[in-house]
Amino acid sequence: MANLTPIRDLEVKYTQLFINNEFVNSASGKTFPTINPATGEKIADIQEADKADVNSAVEAAKAAFALGSPYRKLNASTRGQLLNKVADLIERDISYIASLETLDNGKAFALNGSIGDTNFSAQVFRYYAGWADKISGRTIPVDGNHFSYTRHEPVGICGQITPWNYPLVMAAWKIAPAIAAGNVVILKPAEQTPLTTLYLASLIKEAGFPAGVVNILPGYGPTAGAAITSHPDINKVAFTGSTEVGQIIMQAAGATNIKRTTLELGGKSPCVIFDDVDLDTVVQQAQEACMTNMGQCCAAGTRTFVQEKIYDEFVARSRELAKTRKIGDPFDASTINGPQIDEEQFNKILDLIQSGSKDGAKLEVGGERFGDKGYFIKPTVFSGVTDDMRIAKEEIFGPVQQILKFKDLDEVIERANNTTYGLAASIFTNDINRALTFAHSVQAGTVWINDHNYVTPQGPFGGFKMSGLGRELGEYGLQNYVEIKHVVVRLPQSNAALQ
Ligand code: NAD
Repeated sequence: MANLTPIRDLEVKYTQLFINNEFVNSASGKTFPTINPATGEKIADIQEADKADVNSAVEAAKAAFALGSPYRKLNASTRGQLLNKVADLIERDISYIASLETLDNGKAFALNGSIGDTNFSAQVFRYYAGWADKISGRTIPVDGNHFSYTRHEPVGICGQITPWNYPLVMAAWKIAPAIAAGNVVILKPAEQTPLTTLYLASLIKEAGFPAGVVNILPGYGPTAGAAITSHPDINKVAFTGSTEVGQIIMQAAGATNIKRTTLELGGKSPCVIFDDVDLDTVVQQAQEACMTNMGQCCAAGTRTFVQEKIYDEFVARSRELAKTRKIGDPFDASTINGPQIDEEQFNKILDLIQSGSKDGAKLEVGGERFGDKGYFIKPTVFSGVTDDMRIAKEEIFGPVQQILKFKDLDEVIERANNTTYGLAASIFTNDINRALTFAHSVQAGTVWINDHNYVTPQGPFGGFKMSGLGRELGEYGLQNYVEIKHVVVRLPQSNAALQ
């Protein structure tokens, strides 16, 4: 995989909506541009879905999910084989897909960027392929002359809304478990990054899924997204994005038809460094925890808590390391940081950086634009950060590391938990008792010990508090895609012993 080369001059093959296994224009004929964040230039005009298109997709999905439909007649193991085929096709086209992701999103093509994402997406399809024929209920020993069992049935039509930071990965996290459990899908990718999800649609068709099982509707949140969350025939909504939009979605989902709702929202994750670690490795790990994907990662370790004895040394090394973080053309093999996703995020990050300096934090390095086109921001490190500053409280979603000082375990647990978020946390130490005390005390959906951002198809991912609701990935991720049906059979009196 290390030898894969990017396709710089690539053809964008799909720009239309994908409904009922066909690429079609939107009902309104309206389009919106998708922009290359490395240059600020338009890549392509994309058909823009709205309410009428959501209605068409719902009709296609309903037909695909109807009892007796070709999809409902598939063996569960066949669904698994088709999901495996999608994984094969992603791997077949990995150079093209990773290049398309880099073009549309700006993330580096290299292994820790688009190549890694594309590979991970294939792994997620493969993982859930294995589950398709292993989702089962159980028999329950009830009182009396009754035989009782549960069936784990699909929820039905799943509306899925994804963000721009990991476009293909997020589509895989949502589509693969939904299909493994026998559901049908209507997915709206983020308006900034529709291209790889549309390409994935073509692979889903090529794999052999019947029409209407997966439908992809690029468009804007308040129009296409809201039409999904408020549609009475959509049974479930799965969303990843900002906490503010998560709150809107939960209200809409509740107000229409009590949609089953899962939310993966923002974070302000603590990354706690004790003074017994090897600085040579941990300074690097902590910066990567924060700046991976240009900081556009919901689990990013953006509050780096460093124990007082090593604080000054840690800050000095982090500053020097940030200077070496290669920024530039994301197609270049040596690039680590590409651009931020768009002008809005770029301005928001620069505003937060300014607030950090104004609030009295020390800007060690970075803090400004890189180059004169595109949305690049230099890797930025702040020291002297205190808990009350905006940069310590708000999700920045940029390459901006806040280094805070702490004394002992009790103090850092309290401060780590002093946030409305609870997505992830990490601790770096060689003391196992300290590590486990932290892991069991911190309010976070994932806790890493001596690591950060290790996410794998088998393990659950999701948030405590305002970081979300429900879990994705792993066996836990399937729970959101099944309804539990309890079937009870009254047995003839004489057969009671057969229960
Ligand atoms: P967002 O929450 O607005 O967008 C995420 C998705 O939700 C997109 O597909 C968008 O079109 C859709 N959406 C927006 N409004 C909607 C509505 N009313 N109904 C239904 N769908 C709607 O995120 P953003 O504006 O692109 O980014 C803003 C901030 O969100 C970022 O700065 C970052 O802090 C956070 N964010 C978090 C994640 C994450 O993974 N947790 C991902 C992206 C952004």
